[in-house]
Amino acid sequence: MSEYFPSSEFEQTGQEMHALMASLYPICRSITGDGFRASLRILQQHIPLEIHEVPTGTQVFDWNVPNEWNIRDAYICDPHGNKVVDFKQSSLHILQYSQPMHCRMPLAELKKHLFSIPEQPDWIPYRTSYYKENWGFCLPHRVLETLPEGEYEVCIDASLEPGSLTYGEYMLQGESEDEVLISCHSCHPSLCNDNLSGMALAIFLAKWVSQVKRHYTYRFLFIPGTIGSITWLALHQQEAQRIRHGLVVACVGDSGNLVYKKSRQGNAEIDQAVLQVLKDSGVEYRILDFIPYGYDERQYCSPGFNLPVGSLTRTPHGEFPEYHTSGDNLDFVRPHALVDSLSKYKQVLELLEANQVYVNTNPFCEPQLGKRGLYSLIGGRKGTEQIEMAVLWVLNYSDNEHSLLDIARISAMPFSTIREAAHALLEKGLLVRRK
Ligand code: ZN
Repeated sequence: MSEYFPSSEFEQTGQEMHALMASLYPICRSITGDGFRASLRILQQHIPLEIHEVPTGTQVFDWNVPNEWNIRDAYICDPHGNKVVDFKQSSLHILQYSQPMHCRMPLAELKKHLFSIPEQPDWIPYRTSYYKENWGFCLPHRVLETLPEGEYEVCIDASLEPGSLTYGEYMLQGESEDEVLISCHSCHPSLCNDNLSGMALAIFLAKWVSQVKRHYTYRFLFIPGTIGSITWLALHQQEAQRIRHGLVVACVGDSGNLVYKKSRQGNAEIDQAVLQVLKDSGVEYRILDFIPYGYDERQYCSPGFNLPVGSLTRTPHGEFPEYHTSGDNLDFVRPHALVDSLSKYKQVLELLEANQVYVNTNPFCEPQLGKRGLYSLIGGRKGTEQIEMAVLWVLNYSDNEHSLLDIARISAMPFSTIREAAHALLEKGLLVRRK
């Protein structure tokens, strides 16, 4: 990773990613509404994101864009007039998509609408009711247990009415129309690993991609989970066919090791590329086969599209106890983990950009490398023998069929070594790019 960030820059980037998350943290985001828009406007301070609005009721495959939900305030007052739950203290206190209301009711009635986690009594759970009319509050179990009997005042100052679904999109044109998709759900309220870490990573990755020479065209999507990817895919069926490689970003800030969930195709170039980067890192990692559950890869990998889209995370959703609770806060995500995840994403994109198929211009027996100064070019430095081996591997397998990634896999050598050997051979005219 030091190849990508000198250590002080590495640390600073991690801090900046964390600071971006801190600025987004208090906002009550949902799958629609002003919280989502306010978040995109903060992201626009970093990259020139385009903001799109899709009207309520728009049919998107088997779904419809839902009503827009906006919330201004919500609270519960106990029989003595004390605010025992206050939305202004945490955006997690409200059941997402709660109907507006203001009334009084006994505790027994109220309790039907209160959500807590007895096993984690200090954390506020995150709950939603997007497609079923309901209302409710989420609170620590410890607080719920202390509520006295009596009549409670319940207020939800919200609106649930026709509006639109908002998403953000940032395109970076490359030499080719072939696309790389980076997609992150951006619809969770005050939750950090899932999903602010993904938003922060996508922003910093986009900034970096904007500064490098690109073969591929890059598309960054900041969408509400599930309905956002369904909406984008329904409205962009042609564009979706240009996606050659894609990653769904989430849960990239906890201190666990990296985990890659393969695309439905299972052995797409993106799957091989991520595997290679993780293998070359020398750090433990896990690989999961595709399952039709998880984040938006479910939609990108639905059988009608079957796009080569995987998901690179640290600890996957549901595997950390803080998941979907107030425990997934700014302390749970660490700058060093964020920046380590970012560097792996960069390495994956660099690998994809560099993964060419070459043709050996001297295929009849080995060319005389010494005569061409190839040994002197690469000699006299650490790892020389490995480079010499890589030169032989690249020459042998540059047969108009095997890519550099294939050669790295076959030779069990790091991709960076194979790439370095290929560059040296290119300079000497011993390789040409496949036409
Ligand atoms: Zn989630």
